Amino acid sequence: MSLPLFLVTLFISGSLGIPFRSGPKYQTDDYYTYEGIQEYLKGLAYTYSNRVKLTDIGKTYENRTLTTITISNGDRRTGKNVIFIDAGFHAREWLTHTAALNIIDQLVVNFKENQELLKDYDWVILPLVNADGYTYSRSGNVFINETITCNEPLTSDHQIKCWRKNRKPSAEDCIGTDLNRNFEYDWGKEGDINDPCYLAFKGISPFSEPESQAVKRVLLDLVKSGRGILYLTFHSAISLILYPWGSNGDKAENFKEHEEVAEAGIL
Ligand SMILES: [Zn+2]
Repeated sequence: MSLPLFLVTLFISGSLGIPFRSGPKYQTDDYYTYEGIQEYLKGLAYTYSNRVKLTDIGKTYENRTLTTITISNGDRRTGKNVIFIDAGFHAREWLTHTAALNIIDQLVVNFKENQELLKDYDWVILPLVNADGYTYSRSGNVFINETITCNEPLTSDHQIKCWRKNRKPSAEDCIGTDLNRNFEYDWGKEGDINDPCYLAFKGISPFSEPESQAVKRVLLDLVKSGRGILYLTFHSAISLILYPWGSNGDKAENFKEHEEVAEAGIL
């Protein structure tokens, strides 16, 4: 009698996407799809429910849910400072989601080794900002062991892989806004692009895009609560650590602090 019941349980668990008891296994042999990332986060929330909480912070233009994962050490201490990380603003920078997922894995699954990092901080991570753009960049031809130069993409399949913006139409014949140029501070200054067909188009107005609005809400919440202490946004186009101000190159009031943190990050 117990065998059929066991099989039924497995079938139901599988069909609902509930992970096995050992917890979801983080894979590094391929890039996760948007759906794979969402499943992975859900699996962590299910398996490590005392330390992990998921929050849906908005929807993309194509109606994909954007989800942050909040990671604590489970001590129930409230009001800790928060480190916020996002990744995947630019569709083609696939490495950034992987980096964010790896950090999530280290903080949640490898908690014992890294618990010092959670003693006085909670972490909020949004591993994929531009879910539509990323999904689009995964479509089309699959390239294996081939170098694609995005400065001059040769074919339409190369152009798909090199997609950078989101997927909301920005003009009659052009799609997409460069999401990290869509923020309000100094919007449209210092070389921001007005051409809706260009890959770095700033958008029709500040925060015109649902994805940048979602990130804005998270940041404002952290400012209002006074808990936000560090914001890192991952890109993989160049090997640099950049800190404010990006819009005009001026030094921020606390640039010494930025410099110290950046230098620690290099090590
Ligand atoms: Zn980027």
